[in-house]
Amino acid sequence: MPVIFSGLIGIDLGTTFSCVAHLTGDGMPTTIPNREGDLVTPSVVLIEEDGAIVVGREAKRSECLFPDRTAVCVKRDMGNPQYSRPVGGVMYRPEVLSAMILKRLKEDAERKLGVVQHAVITVPAYFDDTRRKATQDAGLIAGLHVLDILNEPTAAALAYTFESHVRKHGQAATFADQFARRELTVLVYDLGGGTFDVSLVKMSHDRFETLATDGDVRLGGRDWDERIVNYVSEEFLREKRSDPRTDAESLAALYQSVEQAKHALSVRANTRILVIHDAQRMSVDLSREQFDRLTQSLLTRTQMTTELVVESAGLTWSEIDRVLLVGGMTRLPQVRDMLKKLTGRDPDVSVAPDEVVAHGAAIHGGILLSRAQGSGPNSSGPVKSWASFQTIDVNSHSLGIAVRAADGGYANSILIPKNTQLPVARSRTYHTSVPNQRQVRVRILEGEAREAEACVQIGEFLIQGLPPNLPERAPIEVECRYAADGRISVVGRDPTSGQLAETTIIRQGGIEDKALHREAKKLATTEIQ
Ligand code: AMP
Repeated sequence: MPVIFSGLIGIDLGTTFSCVAHLTGDGMPTTIPNREGDLVTPSVVLIEEDGAIVVGREAKRSECLFPDRTAVCVKRDMGNPQYSRPVGGVMYRPEVLSAMILKRLKEDAERKLGVVQHAVITVPAYFDDTRRKATQDAGLIAGLHVLDILNEPTAAALAYTFESHVRKHGQAATFADQFARRELTVLVYDLGGGTFDVSLVKMSHDRFETLATDGDVRLGGRDWDERIVNYVSEEFLREKRSDPRTDAESLAALYQSVEQAKHALSVRANTRILVIHDAQRMSVDLSREQFDRLTQSLLTRTQMTTELVVESAGLTWSEIDRVLLVGGMTRLPQVRDMLKKLTGRDPDVSVAPDEVVAHGAAIHGGILLSRAQGSGPNSSGPVKSWASFQTIDVNSHSLGIAVRAADGGYANSILIPKNTQLPVARSRTYHTSVPNQRQVRVRILEGEAREAEACVQIGEFLIQGLPPNLPERAPIEVECRYAADGRISVVGRDPTSGQLAETTIIRQGGIEDKALHREAKKLATTEIQ
């Protein structure tokens, strides 16, 4: 194996399942089975009574027995100051729970690879800056050097293209040299356990560009399951006069049965769900037709977002060469049928939808490490070939500044609209609002709404030390910079005095450095079962 790739893993940190891959021999991405031999690990954490931390299959199994000690769908809360409810009586930050999952994935990978140092972790393209930062912090707490946070659809498209190249040409080393001779426009539809993303990417021989992206961080398989849980619970309630949703253990068991039924309906027309609650049992029949009807509005939401993304990229369906499916939920026939009808193409399912993102993350890590070392005269093989490869992303949320509106409230003045290619820097001149103003507070917003209060404030800073006696409406320049890795910085300048004003971005909701290192130290000495 080229030394450069050793100690590198790509991690798909999913809402319901996670997957890890590495690069083997000549740079081929391969999934690393976990200690139980499974290719994916449930993203579930159980905190035992004695404080022991269990992650994965065993934790998922315990969800029914100890729902109060189990954390599920942590990814949905990333970016919030706390996980939605206490786990074992303790309120945790989502970063800390995610770090427990990451540490378990790292330890499993180390059983096969030896010491793991570097990782690329994927996030939905639709994750905002706060959620990205939280994911990076989770990696740090888990003891990983996070090379990059990569968008899931970018990872998926990279892996699909890479693996189809290897199938055709038989070797990974020539990937970047021969990759996509013809320019390809690809739609990536990613429906996982808890999040939905759709992206359009354009690939040529040396570039990988995201044209547009959209999604919903709160739409995924769990919502499909919830519809069926509600339906089955109503049936049970009518017949047995008791509601399984009122008991945490019955509810957790019902969610598991419903999920299994959903999987069965991907390959069969009918299935049955057994409900046990209040010392009573009942079996409820469910057909694929019923399932589709009960979940139709959720599927329609994904369809509307898909249409919107194609429209916002200024493309027509005939200009899209390929439709790639990512995420376990794309195994549902309703998803495949809808996409075929919409796009007029058979979706590509040549790579396992639950592993493809981790593979792409490993490839991206390989490209980054190659780039770091690839410019030397003696480099060869994948290192040389991959080093020249470029990936270009877009921002998934508009970036703006809060400005005073005519009605006395605050409006969102968008500086960098969503779907702008990164890196980018844009500046605009604003004005002071009163005579002799000595400082200006700049609030940085993420979101599309016109009103500032309907957006997410991701930071603020003060431009201080303005010269005295400035008239009202004196100009103030603000420059927003969006780096290629999605990180944001904002600079304010007072052109009257010609001085760059002091800027400090205060990130809301993020974990502080001190707490981060404390958590990392604590987890480093904790064994994850
Ligand atoms: P992911 O986050 O990509 O791992 O996707 C997990 C989601 O896909 C969960 O909601 C699973 O229930 C769902 N899923 C996995 N396998 C299947 C299947 N065979 N049929 C239907 N849904 C599935």
